[in-house]
Amino acid sequence: MILLLLGPPGAGKGTQGELLAKELGIPKIATGDVLRAAVRDGTKRGKEAKSYMDRGDLVPDEVILGIMREKFEGDETRNGAILDGVVRTVPQAHGLGLMLAEIGRKVDKVLLFDIDDEKLVARLSSRTVCEKCQHPCKDREPGTKCDKCGGTLVRRKDDEPEAVRNRLRVYKEQTAPVIKWYEERKESPLKIDADGSLEEVLQRALKTLKQE
Ligand SMILES: [Zn+2]
Repeated sequence: MILLLLGPPGAGKGTQGELLAKELGIPKIATGDVLRAAVRDGTKRGKEAKSYMDRGDLVPDEVILGIMREKFEGDETRNGAILDGVVRTVPQAHGLGLMLAEIGRKVDKVLLFDIDDEKLVARLSSRTVCEKCQHPCKDREPGTKCDKCGGTLVRRKDDEPEAVRNRLRVYKEQTAPVIKWYEERKESPLKIDADGSLEEVLQRALKTLKQE
């Protein structure tokens, strides 16, 4: 089963992807990880990607898809994979579909981790990290001390409420058309309520997958 994960920043998609990978016994494939591994291993597409990165350019979608293809031609993904962060735009959804069709496969299910905007703002802005050791702490005020090293906890600029709202706007602008694109192909994303503990959300995802 090839499972595609969608969801806003902070909805816990990456963590749920890992938990689902363990439960379902298939690997999780995240664009950033796969890209770094291909560059490190010096695969054909990895070398191509590196030439863009060395120039400080963004790696184009077609190169990323080539790297995904290398992954799907390997043994590791024979039983499927969980794709995290692979599709953020309609051209990427389209490109992924075409690439998989070329090798006789397809996205089987799309999971959309869904959570109320203001809950996300509250969740992300309650996160602080240690200035010194980068240890993340939850529900702690900026200015208090790190449990690990005694350094000062700060809130990352990215996690300030206004910055979070801005990230959510960008996400929605990009993702709404992606959801519509899948709906038009009768591959409607399955909505998972992402407000809850890790275990609760995981169980909801597994239940939804079983029902469909
Ligand atoms: Zn620290």
